[in-house]
Amino acid sequence: MLFEQRTVTCGELRAADIGKTVVLNGWVHRKRDHGGISFINIRDRYGVTQVVVDADSAQELLDRAAELKMEYCVSIRGTVRPRPDSMINPSMPTGEIEVKAERIQILSRCAPLPFMIDEATDAKEDMRLTYRYLDLRSFSMQKKIRLRHEAAFAVREYLVGKGFYEIETPTFIRSTPEGARDYLVPSRLYPGKFYALPQSPQLYKQLLMASGFDKYFQLARCYRDEDSRGDRQPEFTQIDIEMSFVTREDVLALVEGMMGHLFKKTLGVELPAKFVRIPYDEAMDRFGSDKPDLRFGMELLDFAPYVDGACSFQAFHDALKEGGAVKALVVPGKADYSRRQIEELEAKTKVYKAHGLAWMKVNQAGALEGGASKFFSEPARIVQGLGAKPGDLILIVADKKKKVACTALGAVRSQLGKDLGLCDPAVFAFAWIIDFPLFEFNEEENRWEAAHHMFTMPQAQYHDSLEADPGAVKGDLYDLVLNGYEIASGSIRIHDPDLQKRIFRIVGMTDEEAQRKFGFLLEAFKYGPPPHGGIAPGFDRLVMLMAGETSIKEVIAFPKNSFAVSPMDQCPNDVDERQLKELHISIVQEK
Ligand code: ASP
Repeated sequence: MLFEQRTVTCGELRAADIGKTVVLNGWVHRKRDHGGISFINIRDRYGVTQVVVDADSAQELLDRAAELKMEYCVSIRGTVRPRPDSMINPSMPTGEIEVKAERIQILSRCAPLPFMIDEATDAKEDMRLTYRYLDLRSFSMQKKIRLRHEAAFAVREYLVGKGFYEIETPTFIRSTPEGARDYLVPSRLYPGKFYALPQSPQLYKQLLMASGFDKYFQLARCYRDEDSRGDRQPEFTQIDIEMSFVTREDVLALVEGMMGHLFKKTLGVELPAKFVRIPYDEAMDRFGSDKPDLRFGMELLDFAPYVDGACSFQAFHDALKEGGAVKALVVPGKADYSRRQIEELEAKTKVYKAHGLAWMKVNQAGALEGGASKFFSEPARIVQGLGAKPGDLILIVADKKKKVACTALGAVRSQLGKDLGLCDPAVFAFAWIIDFPLFEFNEEENRWEAAHHMFTMPQAQYHDSLEADPGAVKGDLYDLVLNGYEIASGSIRIHDPDLQKRIFRIVGMTDEEAQRKFGFLLEAFKYGPPPHGGIAPGFDRLVMLMAGETSIKEVIAFPKNSFAVSPMDQCPNDVDERQLKELHISIVQEK
């Protein structure tokens, strides 16, 4: 069918266009009939224009207008005229004008809708994902996908301006699963062999530094086969960055500049030139988290000074005696919290294996009452020392492991931040967390493992004592956090093959295994590799926070659902027997 092509979009007509004959192409957004007159709002990516079919129009036009239903795709020719005063809509960019229809062409019809386009976000998630192409028609989704596009553009613009090359690395790579599981792709040509989809371009970007490219970036798709938990996607995008001849300062400064440019360009938000830096140990101590939400204070306080002769709570004494910690939180004005509310907070501490959440209230006279208050004979000292006020609630976690006490109370702090409305979505609180431990002890497997990844440079002062005390080693590692989310991890890398081999050994890899898995990297490092480092901000999460959303699905055009399934095209799906045969694969039915 020939159709009359648009001369303008649905978002651009203004009073200055009055008198022009125009053609609009778009979708029927809304339709109202009013005393023989039809008002049809036509929508496209650019906006909405009101089209009017006057009551005295030709019969053919009236008939065509009567046929129109929501989301029909149409071409409409007409003349731009001013709206009657009573219908001027200042909140709509095209709100001063309307188009008097002269011809309506139906380009395609729309079946009954599974949900109202504009209110799609109220529909159940699987419904939205089954009809994602309709969900994406809504203004809110169009806005978020546009933001994602603009963000990608701003990132490229900034990095290219700083002399970075965008270089693609392969997505069929050697499988070296560390941390998460790899997605595997069977090889038809080499029976029994597999490619893996990259969890990140880590080794390739390091090799690009060995190749002398100096500054590399890529909006890289990464794949991790993790159990569906929280807001995870099997594939996601990172702004992958690597630089040669740099120290931590160079990488941090680059990312601060990049974020500044990105937020200014896309949201008009001015970020501070430098982000605060908090060493990991301090972050755990003050916030009980290595990704603290800094939009509010309410820091964890040390309760140990009050666990003395004036305290008869044995559990508190025990925790300290065994080298642990007792941490407290003062919640302003929440002495009216009910027992149930406190129990709900206590449930959060259990996730981190704490034994319980003790509480006391500061009454109007400034004295302690309720809960654990009976264990303290000098309450005034506590109230004053913690800086608590009448009407405040005091929450305490004690544990013989300091990390448990801190993380458990940290979880309470973040929950309270949400419950008490302390997390202003319009505020962007960035911070660097630095000086992370290089290794973590895996209790289940009884071995050390890399806290970030095995290619991170230990800080220089630990180079001689790596093997002697792995738990004490700090890495040249940095995370960028934003509003309680980790949005980037990076590090200065090892470029000395001998040092790299030592790290492999500490995490329990034999030399032979290291050679088999990472021989190509060790080999490359024999040929004059430069000192280098980098970082990889998670692009989906970043855009999610910029859009004020809480799920990355909201900023991915075609995401999987929480079960790693696409309800729209039913993926993952069964494949033909013939395909399996070609790939030398047979499916074993589990009993
Ligand atoms: N490749 C790392 C990751 O995916 C980031 C980095 O160190 O650059 O977490």
